Amino acid sequence: MDMKVVKFGGSSLADAEHFRRVAEIVKSDPSRHYVVASAPGKRSSSDTKVTDMLYQCYEKVRNREDITEIFGAIAERYNSIIRELGLDFDIGGELDYIKNAILHHSGRDFAASRGEYLNSLILAKYLGFAFLDAESAVFFRENGSFDEEKTNEELRAELATRPYAVIPGFYGVMPNGTIKTFSRGGSDITGSIVARAAEASLYENWTDVSGFLTADPRVVKNPRPIRTVTYRELRELSYMGATVLHEDAIFPVRNAGIPINIRNTNEPDAEGTMIVSATGEYDPETVITGIAGKRGLSVITIEKDMMNAEIGFGRRVLEVLEENDISFEHLPSGVDTMSVVVSTAALDDRRERVLTAIQRAVRPDSVVTEDGLALLAVVGRGMVKSKGTAARVFGAISGAGVNIRMIDQGSSELNIIVGVEESDLNVAMNAIYREFVKK
Ligand code: ADP
Ligand code: ASP
Ligand code: MG
Repeated sequence: MDMKVVKFGGSSLADAEHFRRVAEIVKSDPSRHYVVASAPGKRSSSDTKVTDMLYQCYEKVRNREDITEIFGAIAERYNSIIRELGLDFDIGGELDYIKNAILHHSGRDFAASRGEYLNSLILAKYLGFAFLDAESAVFFRENGSFDEEKTNEELRAELATRPYAVIPGFYGVMPNGTIKTFSRGGSDITGSIVARAAEASLYENWTDVSGFLTADPRVVKNPRPIRTVTYRELRELSYMGATVLHEDAIFPVRNAGIPINIRNTNEPDAEGTMIVSATGEYDPETVITGIAGKRGLSVITIEKDMMNAEIGFGRRVLEVLEENDISFEHLPSGVDTMSVVVSTAALDDRRERVLTAIQRAVRPDSVVTEDGLALLAVVGRGMVKSKGTAARVFGAISGAGVNIRMIDQGSSELNIIVGVEESDLNVAMNAIYREFVKK
């Protein structure tokens, strides 16, 4: 049976006009049974997402500042949607309750989650669908990790009693009843979880671009959409900054073999991108599937003669990072040098401590940090099959006058990662796009 779970992102639910488009999409296909909704996003590039406004409310209460104005602006976002849709629906009681709870220190995650909660209530009313609160269907464990088994079982039972429903994205509940959210962009994960529990035939993820694009549209002008991408390629791309889909959103559906279709709410006829586990499709023209880039990185370079002969050297360095709660992004290494790429934000307030601890742990000849690094990933299942891809990547970057600071080819031959100065990232990405996608 055809059964679809559809998730709409913040930009797709930012105002009444978008609610109308969403309803048209949902109603045009009766197999679209379950709708996962985000909080209202930006209506223009200078606008603020409701989720960010809710985080501001939380911060203000912590700093003992007044929230009347900011909460009023949040209330108006919802009330204008209700008014313009002509809905007979009063959320005044809900708003009062939420404001009070935030004023009484109900928690950062609770505050943030109300964005999707309220939007989903309104959308359910507008569509005439049931409302299923994620609070009673998405569960976290005591240690904060997502409880897949419990969620799948209970969510499935809840869905079974509601043929059509709206479920708020982004949050769930802890064993003690408090609200917990996923990380930013987490409504994508909820969509995937619902698709799995509903045993959907397709998970449609509706956003504001016509699919997963070959490159970030804010960097490359009018990049071509990708028709099909494998879960593995997508994970490489989203981890490296192509944030159209949360990097963890693929797990629940991948295990169940449910494809994801990225679609554009503003252009519903465009086919978008299909994300699948494997594809027989092989086009010798398309060597690379996509390009992504990540800024804000630092590299810790450790040098020591004969490092390669010292057993446990790498482990001891990584232990220092672990003890300081820093995860590493990449680890390109030579015979006598080891480089660890980490996020500058994670390193910043503990830099001295980390360097001292590395000194103590491995007694290197030198250890230094450098900031301002960006990593660029060229990803493609076609790279294994075509010779000379790496040379073309490096040629394109050098040809654009950009200095390559680091090279790291993934062992899977699915990606090539290049480190460049942050200020060179856009030029390098455009050069690779021209080389492989559009001359
Ligand atoms: P939503 O609010 O629907 O969840 P997001 O803002 O999370 O949408 O993701 C969509 C945005 O991702 C696009 O508007 C685009 O600016 C950005 N983006 C970055 N890289 C890519 C890419 N490779 N393909 C498509 N969009 C991308
Ligand atoms: N509203 C949340 C955020 O802005 C979740 C989401 O949009 O997916 O991160
Ligand atoms: Mg998103």
